[in-house]
Amino acid sequence: MRIVLLGPPGSGKGTQAKLMQEQIGIKHIATGDLLRAAVAERTELGQAAHAYMARGDLVPDALVIGMIGQRLRQDGIARSFLLDGFPRNVAQAEALDQLLTGDHLALDHVVSLDVDREEIVQRLAGRRTCTRCGAMYHVRFDPPATPGACDRCGGPLVQREDDREETIRARLDVYDRSTAPLVAFYRDRGLLRSIDGMGSAADVMDRVLKEVGQRH
Ligand code: AMP
Repeated sequence: MRIVLLGPPGSGKGTQAKLMQEQIGIKHIATGDLLRAAVAERTELGQAAHAYMARGDLVPDALVIGMIGQRLRQDGIARSFLLDGFPRNVAQAEALDQLLTGDHLALDHVVSLDVDREEIVQRLAGRRTCTRCGAMYHVRFDPPATPGACDRCGGPLVQREDDREETIRARLDVYDRSTAPLVAFYRDRGLLRSIDGMGSAADVMDRVLKEVGQRH
C-alpha cells in the first residue's frame, strides 16, 4: 500500500506515521527526518538544505526530489510506503507520480489531517525530541518523568531549531501557500481522505486506519 500523509506541520503526521508503522508494518519515510540527518552529518545535501530549514522555508525541489527518488529505489521500497512531509507542493506531487509510474505503480490513498492553527502552535512550541533515540515529548501534554531527559534512553531532550514560535508561523504560511493546494490536486484525482486530526493520537489513528481500509 502506498500512502501520502498531508497536513500542516504539527498536525500529527509523524506521530501517526510511527504508530501505523508499528500497527500495520508500513514503512515510514519522512523527508524532514532525512533532511535533519543530512544536516547533522554535514553532507553536501545537508549543508545546502540547512539555511532553508532554519528559516522554515521549503528546501529547493530538485534537492528533495533527488533525495526521495533515491530513497524510494532502495530495496524496492516504492512497493509500500507511507510518505510524511513529501510532497510539499504540486511540482513535487507531479515528480512523485512520475517516479511511481516509471515502476508501473500509483498512490493508493492521500490522507489529510485537519487541525486548527492555534492548536498547532501549542503542539509545536512544546514539542521536545531526544537527540539520542528520536523519541518525542510535549512539555505539557506528554512530559518526560525527568525534565529534559528521555524516559527511554536518558538522552538529552531538545527543541527543534524550527519549532520556535516565529518559525512555526513562517512554516504554517509556507504550508498555506505551497502545500494546501495539494489538497485540491489529490481531491481531483479521487485520492483524498480528509480526517479530523484533533483528539488523542490513538483516536486519530483509528480514523486513519478506517479510511485506508485497515480497520472496520
Ligand atoms: P518537517 O519535519 O516535515 O516539518 O520538515 C522540516 C523542514 O524540512 C521543513 O520546514 C522544510 O524546510 C524541510 N522539508 C521537509 N520536507 C520537505 C519537502 N518535501 N520539500 C521541501 N522542504 C522540505
